[in-house]
Amino acid sequence: MLAHECQYDKTMAECPKRMKLIYERLINDKLFDNAVKIEAREAEDAEIRLNHPQSLIDEITALNSKENCEEYCKDKEILWTCENTNEAARVAIGGCIEIVKAAIENKIHNGFAIVRPPGHHSYGKVPQGYCIFNNVAIAAKYAIEQLGVARVAIVDFDYHAGNGTFQSVKDDPRIHFTSFHAHHHGSFWPFSREYDYATRDENTLFVPLNGTMNTEGDFVSIFHHVVLPMLKQFQPELILISAGFDAGYYDSMMEFGQGVKAHGYGHMARLLSDLCPGRTIAVLEGGYQPYNYTESASMLVRGLQNLALPRLVLPSRISGALLETLWNILYHHSQWYPQLRQRLELLKQQQVKLGLQEFVPHQTVFLGQQMRNMYDDMKKHRIVRTREWFPELSPEMMKLCKKNIDEYIKQYEFTLQHEYPTEPQLIAQCVWDEAARSQAFLQAAPFASVLVQEFNDFVAGHRENMMICDRELYVESVKNGTLKAHEAIGRNL
Ligand SMILES: [Zn+2]
Repeated sequence: MLAHECQYDKTMAECPKRMKLIYERLINDKLFDNAVKIEAREAEDAEIRLNHPQSLIDEITALNSKENCEEYCKDKEILWTCENTNEAARVAIGGCIEIVKAAIENKIHNGFAIVRPPGHHSYGKVPQGYCIFNNVAIAAKYAIEQLGVARVAIVDFDYHAGNGTFQSVKDDPRIHFTSFHAHHHGSFWPFSREYDYATRDENTLFVPLNGTMNTEGDFVSIFHHVVLPMLKQFQPELILISAGFDAGYYDSMMEFGQGVKAHGYGHMARLLSDLCPGRTIAVLEGGYQPYNYTESASMLVRGLQNLALPRLVLPSRISGALLETLWNILYHHSQWYPQLRQRLELLKQQQVKLGLQEFVPHQTVFLGQQMRNMYDDMKKHRIVRTREWFPELSPEMMKLCKKNIDEYIKQYEFTLQHEYPTEPQLIAQCVWDEAARSQAFLQAAPFASVLVQEFNDFVAGHRENMMICDRELYVESVKNGTLKAHEAIGRNL
C-alpha cells in the first residue's frame, strides 16, 4: 500500500506518507501495545466482485506503465493510478475483510484498518476520487454474504460525500448508510442533488454540510439527534466507519473546510462502539494535513479502545447552517423513525413557547447542475486534467495549521466520564430564531459564492483551470465544436 504512489505528479495529496505517519504515531502513543495485528492480504477477484464488475478488475489489473496509468484516468473524476495500484488496492480490501472477520469471530474488540488507496468514492465500474475499489462496501457485503451478519451500518464522516458507498449499498435493506459531507448547496463535488438531506429511503442518512467550520461539538450533537436514534432502531451487528479526517480543524481546506478537532473523532468512535461493542471497525479514507490526521487517528483509536478522551462540551446551540439541515433531516426522516417524529414535535412546541415562527422545511437551494454538466462533458470527451488538482499548502500555511492544532491540544482534559446529553439539552440546541437564520446564511454564503465565482470565471475565460477542467483544452474544444460552451451560473436563478 505504501508503493501506491503517483509517478507523473508528486503533488498528489493522497500519498504514501499518510499511512506511514498514522502508523508511526499510533506506535509512539503506545496504542498498539494492547492491539492485535491483522495481516492484510490481496483480495481475490471473487471478493472484489461482491461490489464491482469483472471488467473494472481487469482494467485495474492491466495498468502496467506510467503512460497507460495516466491515460486510464482521462475520463475519470480526480483519479490517479500507478503500476502498483492493483496490488495495493487488493491488499487494502484484503485487510478490511480480515479485520472484519477477526471482529465477527471475537478475536479482536473493535479495530482500525490503516489502508490505502481509500474506497468511499468508488462504485460499480466507476473508480474516482483517489478510490479504486470500495473497501468498506466490499467488507460490508463480505460480512453479510460470507459471515452471516444480518445488518451492517456504515458511518462516513469524511469531509467528502461517500457517493461510491451510497451507490454501492443503496438497494440493500441490510445496510444502513450515514454520510456527513461537504455540500454547499450543491456547489461542491460531486455537484449532485442526490446527496442533499432528502434521501429516498430510511436506510440512508445524509448530513450535507452547507456551512463551513462546523465543530466537533456540532458533529457529535448530530450523532445524538439523528445518527444514534436511527441506528438504535436499525440494530446493526457490525459498524464500519469510513474514517476520513479531512473535515478536521485546519485540514487542507483551512477556514473553508470544517472544524472538527481531533478528540471529536474519538467521541464519534466511542459512541458507535457503545452501540455495537467490539464490532466497530474504522477504515481509513481521506485526511491530508499531517498534524491534523495523525492527531485525529490517535484520538479515533483511543475512542475505539475505550481509553480516556479529552472532555467534549456540546454547544448550547448547533451552528446555524447545520441546524437548518438538522431541522430538514428531522422533517424528512420522521416518516420512518418514530423517535425523530417525537423530537420534531418537541422542537415545534419549543418554537411556539418562545413565540418564534415555525421552521419552514424543504427550502434548499441547489447550485451545482452546470458544474456537474461540465464535469460530465470533460469525461465524455476524455479531456480530464489528470495532474495538479490541489495546490500544496505553503510552509507558512502549514505553520498556521500546526499552531491552531497545538493550541487546542493544550486545552485537553482527559477523562473517562462522558455523559450523554439529556432530551431537554438536545431540544434547547435547536432554537430556530433570527440569530440562527442569519448565522446559517453567513456560514454558507461566502464559500458557495467562491465556488460559483470560480466556475463562472472559468467558463468566462478568466481563470486557468478548475480541478479536472483544463482551460486550454476547454477553449480549444469549444472552438472546434467538440464541446459546447457552458453558461455562467446565476443567469437562470
Ligand atoms: Zn475526503
